[in-house]
Amino acid sequence: MRREIRWWLHLALAAALLASQARATDSDALDGTCPVCGTPVTVYRLRSTNSFGGQDRDLFTQAYGDQGFIVVTASCPKCLYTARSEDFLPAEKRRAQAPPGAAKAVSDGVKRAILEEHALQVPEGGRVDGKLVDWAKLDLAAQTATLREESDEELGWRALEVAWAVRSGATFGAKVPDRYPPDVVALREKRESQDRKANPALVDLEAAKLLLGRLSKTPAAEKPLIAALAASLLRGHGEHGALLSALPRILACFPKAQAAAVEKDLRGSIALEQKYQRAAMERFEKALAGTAPLSKPESRAMLTYLVGETARRLGEEDKARSWLGKVAAVDGVPPFLVRYAKDQLETLAPVTK
Ligand SMILES: [Zn+2]
Repeated sequence: MRREIRWWLHLALAAALLASQARATDSDALDGTCPVCGTPVTVYRLRSTNSFGGQDRDLFTQAYGDQGFIVVTASCPKCLYTARSEDFLPAEKRRAQAPPGAAKAVSDGVKRAILEEHALQVPEGGRVDGKLVDWAKLDLAAQTATLREESDEELGWRALEVAWAVRSGATFGAKVPDRYPPDVVALREKRESQDRKANPALVDLEAAKLLLGRLSKTPAAEKPLIAALAASLLRGHGEHGALLSALPRILACFPKAQAAAVEKDLRGSIALEQKYQRAAMERFEKALAGTAPLSKPESRAMLTYLVGETARRLGEEDKARSWLGKVAAVDGVPPFLVRYAKDQLETLAPVTK
């Protein structure tokens, strides 16, 4: 039987002690109303979330349990208007400090486009068993923001969030181990003892490398589990390049029919994520080239970094090198971003002349 495993579940199992109920993502349901068509919509406001999954280097901070940005995005089942929950609440129920992009009035032109021209459409494959899947909900939020003529910077973030939703929801037809093998447990303990703030996302990538390195020496009976774990760690953090280059070795560990299904799922979800990463990258480039002011003093550095890091995730190494190389010199660059850009440049293959 084909078993689909949610990434977060596998991660949560590995850290069962941490992922107690009180620390998982938690939210309150509120009664909202669609600002376009008046349909009642239940929306969610975060009570708590966490960052136990670590931060991917394209700035996706992963939670155990539900991802906050997905929970707080609401979609009208009737007209498909999709935005942050605050947009669906009456003024007196909105937070004084609404999240970015939220709680702006919807113009008559936008209402007409949605209600009369059906400008919002569920993307292909966006409904499973009649239910809107997370990435499709985020795609509708990006469509809604486009209709509302949000800035290129804002539209870039919306597209990047769709990519993150694809990543956090990606599944494939192979079982992953219920617990980490001893060498991975030892690696995690070592990293945590060296640095209490060790980024779990980076430790996972190191673990994947360790597992791939010993795959040829792994007993045949264990190979499918170890290969699936390595694949899940790389897929779960959106490291497409490393995953695709190891894919032949990973697939060789599964029976032929299963290998074909695993490959189809992995390549399909990577292509979907990359479609949105490309959209984000292009929007950020447009925002940087434009004359409109950016939202924050550090935006120029953030967007410069993200163009480079997203190019890296799209396999465009020359472009990645060029943009990551600019980050340190941008006015107002936060120190952590200088470090990230340096680290990511080091992950790229050296230029041979
Ligand atoms: Zn509606």
